Amino acid sequence: ENVLKVEGLTKIYPDGTLAVDDIDFQIKAGDFCVIIGPSGCGKSTTLHSLVGKIPPTEGKVILDGKDITHAPTYERDIGLVFQDFQLFPHLTVEENIIYGLKRMDLPKDVIDERLENVLEMMQLHELRARPPKELSSGQKQRVALARSLVLEPKLLLLDEPLGDMDYKLQKRMERELLRIHRELDTTFVYVTHDQTQAMRLADQVIVMNGGKIEHSAPVEEVYNEP
Ligand code: ADP
Ligand code: ADP
Repeated sequence: ENVLKVEGLTKIYPDGTLAVDDIDFQIKAGDFCVIIGPSGCGKSTTLHSLVGKIPPTEGKVILDGKDITHAPTYERDIGLVFQDFQLFPHLTVEENIIYGLKRMDLPKDVIDERLENVLEMMQLHELRARPPKELSSGQKQRVALARSLVLEPKLLLLDEPLGDMDYKLQKRMERELLRIHRELDTTFVYVTHDQTQAMRLADQVIVMNGGKIEHSAPVEEVYNEP
């Protein structure tokens, strides 16, 4: 079953740049989908259209059967982890993680339970009282993920989240992401320009180029052609 359907998505920026050119794709619930393509091919524009940060010029975004094309970001049930994490520097790890939850109008015991679960899953218990500046980039990444996961989104978007890390740390974080993906009932959409990463992570691969989709298929079909 498809959790996300994108139909005829087009984005023309005010300066006339055609960044995304009438694309269609679907993502199966529970999949680890990787969107891959060279710099400037329209990956970020696509992601930001899904979360509602960029209004599409044309097309539809349908999540779980619901048309969310014009829904405000906070009503979309889609999480986004930025490349540079964007943690609040003046808040502790714990405060960063519950910041969004507190605005969701949930009972306090639900907030506490979700916080404890995510701290456990991300192995952040020992760091909960620290400010972001005392964390390594791998630890910051875990906080950024925790902050999105705790909201239990239907879809979690990751915009080149391992971009600035050295190779060893990247490999470790990849294993971590695969573990988290297995443990959760969430669909991941992961953007990268790194083909080897796509091969290691993806169930489904969407290859973009020049604002278009060149392939959208299970990873074996995209990379094991005869
Ligand atoms: P990618 O994420 O694959 O690097 P982007 O979605 O960032 O690609 O960009 C796609 C195209 O749109 C590029 O040509 C880029 O220069 C252009 N672009 C991105 N943002 C804007 C903007 N705010 N205004 C005008 N052009 C933009
Ligand atoms: P990424 O590839 O991760 O999207 P970029 O460096 O392409 O990062 O874009 C960073 C910011 O600059 C984004 O907000 C994007 O919308 C904007 N941007 C990118 N290309 C252009 C452009 N040609 N004109 C105006 N803004 C742009």
